[in-house]
Amino acid sequence: MALIVQKYGGTSVGSVERVQAVAKKIKAFARSGDQLVVSVSAMSGETNRMMALAKQLQDKPSLREVDMLLATGEQVTISLLSMALQQIGCDAISYLGSQVRIVTDSEHGKARIKSIDDHRIHNSLDEGKVVIIAGFQGVDEQGHITTLGRGGSDTTAVALAAALKADECQIYTDVDGVYTTDPRIEPNARKMKSVSYEEMLEMASLGSKVLQIRAVEFASKYQVPLRVLSSMIDNPVGTLITSEENIVEQAVISGIAHNKDEAKLSLIGVPDKPGIAFKILKPISEANIEVDMIVQSVSAREGLTNFAFTVHRDDFNQAKSILQTICDNLGAMDVQSDDKVVKVSLVGIGMRSHAGIATQMFEVLHNERINIQMIATSEIKISVVIDEKYLELAVRSLHSAFDLEKG
Ligand code: ASP
Ligand code: MG
Repeated sequence: MALIVQKYGGTSVGSVERVQAVAKKIKAFARSGDQLVVSVSAMSGETNRMMALAKQLQDKPSLREVDMLLATGEQVTISLLSMALQQIGCDAISYLGSQVRIVTDSEHGKARIKSIDDHRIHNSLDEGKVVIIAGFQGVDEQGHITTLGRGGSDTTAVALAAALKADECQIYTDVDGVYTTDPRIEPNARKMKSVSYEEMLEMASLGSKVLQIRAVEFASKYQVPLRVLSSMIDNPVGTLITSEENIVEQAVISGIAHNKDEAKLSLIGVPDKPGIAFKILKPISEANIEVDMIVQSVSAREGLTNFAFTVHRDDFNQAKSILQTICDNLGAMDVQSDDKVVKVSLVGIGMRSHAGIATQMFEVLHNERINIQMIATSEIKISVVIDEKYLELAVRSLHSAFDLEKG
């Protein structure tokens, strides 16, 4: 008998009909004799709707109260799913995060799970019930309701799987797996059978929205076999995210990620002295703005240098005005800004043992006359910032140059 943790996302439980469809699937699994723990998100759109309600009352609502509010979304879906299961003769029980003691720290809105008390879950499983647990939420040591950050029910599922030592954690969603790139951009994108934690982590942080980053981190840390699959089709296989050793056919490049949320800021003609990077980035980070890529050019003859970085587009205007002040303070020449850029990244653990991948990537972009504005590399990824109008062209030509459609 296996113990499986399943998670169904907001679209999969977005209406009473969908909840019934999910219940049917769960019943079929339960029949096969496996023990099932199911975690669900709020109905799609609900979390945003509630957030908007809060914003009507306060510009910056208290994070504690926001958590109190948002956690109700998942209370709706767990109880409805449990009812739908009972209605078709499948014994089930629902629990809130606080009831099964998903204990987190007290960082409202982005709490981290510290422990899960699995007693109650095991007792209910032993009574032959499907156990349904609210995703996205927990409780801190003082008893305050917390939430784990947007998309957090993926993390709930993985954390449950780790705590229960489940055989597999299955994330049911509206896509049927992890693709070599975004199929909306490249119709020849191929669904991967498996991908390593490390690559998935890069893809998630580089803009692939399939899984919450923290969920992948958790799975990697506790070696939870994680499968992404569609809740909309019958007998889906999906993509298995696992450790590197378990991947049989390792390609050099696994996938191409892209991120349209980037915006670029440059400070031109800064006196090149020790402390420049610090003086530029300190006020930015003090404003809680996250910086992604950073490029400082080699000093020109006049002892001046250029310093460029990217931020999330939501932070663009604020970062720009901070940089204007910095420009005046440091006596730099100019601030340049561009929010029409995107980041395109090649990801693959095979890069470690293959030289020349970056050159090959740059050649492809050169052949398409795409100018590279910034470059960043790690052991298993190469990212470039380019003009957003070349996004599709870059993704498609790289996908074909690296033979990703073949697998
Ligand atoms: N309902 C929460 C959200 O929309 C959590 C989740 O869907 O995973 O972010
Ligand atoms: Mg989600």
